[in-house]
Amino acid sequence: MLKPTIGLEVHVQLKTRSKMFCSCPVEFKAEPNTLVCPVCLGLPGSLPVLNRQAVEYTIAVALALHCEIQPFSQFHRKNYFYPDLPKGYQISQYDLPFSRNGYLIIETEEGEKRIGIQRVHMEEDTAKMIHGESISRTSGYSLIDFNRSGVPLLEIVSRPDISSPQEATLYLMELRSILRTLGVSTANMEEGALRCDVNISLERGTRTEIKNLNSFHSVRKALEYEIKRQEEVLKEKGQVIQETRHYDERAGVTLSMRTKEEAEDYRYFPEPDLVPLKIDPPWIEEVRSRMPELPEDKRKRYKELGLFPQEAATIANNPELANFFDSCLSLGAPGKEVANWLLSEVMKYLNARNLSIIEVPLSPEGLVEFLTVLKEGTISSKIGKMVIEEMLQTGDGAREIIERRGLAQISDPVLIKKWAEEVIKENPDQVSQYRQGKEQLFGFFVGKVMKLSGGKANPEILNRILKELLLRE
Ligand SMILES: [Zn+2]
Repeated sequence: MLKPTIGLEVHVQLKTRSKMFCSCPVEFKAEPNTLVCPVCLGLPGSLPVLNRQAVEYTIAVALALHCEIQPFSQFHRKNYFYPDLPKGYQISQYDLPFSRNGYLIIETEEGEKRIGIQRVHMEEDTAKMIHGESISRTSGYSLIDFNRSGVPLLEIVSRPDISSPQEATLYLMELRSILRTLGVSTANMEEGALRCDVNISLERGTRTEIKNLNSFHSVRKALEYEIKRQEEVLKEKGQVIQETRHYDERAGVTLSMRTKEEAEDYRYFPEPDLVPLKIDPPWIEEVRSRMPELPEDKRKRYKELGLFPQEAATIANNPELANFFDSCLSLGAPGKEVANWLLSEVMKYLNARNLSIIEVPLSPEGLVEFLTVLKEGTISSKIGKMVIEEMLQTGDGAREIIERRGLAQISDPVLIKKWAEEVIKENPDQVSQYRQGKEQLFGFFVGKVMKLSGGKANPEILNRILKELLLRE
């Protein structure tokens, strides 16, 4: 297989209260074209004013991605015509971006891998085009909602360090989890708060770009398709053309949109209505001091508790789950056991219902009590699965459920012995076969006694008593 080289360009909408250069609110469920003013409508004579909160959020993201924040950066006008861009240019950053040279770490099956970040810069979002239903391209119509015009955006450009569709997905997941942990964006791909363009080449040859991918699934599928397509072109001694392609989700193919435009085509020039941006080090330090623990550090801490890298990554990359996990730790529960139950039974329950851990009544205290009950031997882990499911449904305590449903494990040797004797008496053939050396029949007896106990006999005691009885005579 030819080696793919992949780079991602991600656009993230910041969750600020107002837009990038005006005081219109940022809100996604409002009536179309109600959150607008002369600035974000691009009316002549209006002047942009930079949103301080957006800058702080950008500082936080740049720090989380280990980027160098430039003491001096500048906004540029990127000129192009499109109906969703009333000014005829987008305010973006060009050769003096906000920050550069960072990285993030993904947890692959082969271990940690560092993906370089080329730059993180600020820009404004365009208006949103809504294309009306139509059979042919010519008879339809398009609507424009300017509520999105001027919403603060970050552009995060990776270096081409990604070498498979799988790694691209891991990169996006890690990035999403950083953004959510910082609380700077919902980073929800389905809502367009995180949008992804990918560029890909094989063996460092000519690359193509695929624009506007809006789900993890699309990113993976589009890359898989494009790798195969380029492979076939090269196999037939053809040439991959540098171009922008579109991923058709329904057909599962990428299609040529236009040949790639170069930076010169945009006639970038410094935005004359905004002064250059100077960031003082004390401001950076102030933002740094307020930053929460990042997924990368969480992962490290979890691995030190004995969790496997993939387990640590799954928990650390889900802020709600990580909070839950940390609460259990602070209650003194052993990390490995908490992780085992969270990542098996609890996740299975949540995934099947598409719920998050904060949407179910199970509390960290509840899970810790449950683990204590297990440790005391009141229930087996098999019964435990039933109990935890009921806890997830009702929020009741483990002890309460065990008592209500009579699930406590039976450890009374007299009672267990009585059942064992009964089983031995009723199955004389199997007993004599066992005694003649057919040891694999042991499981058969265990099953019978378990059944008599309603699944509640303590397995250790049961095994011991059964062995004694079978070996007798
Ligand atoms: Zn506005």
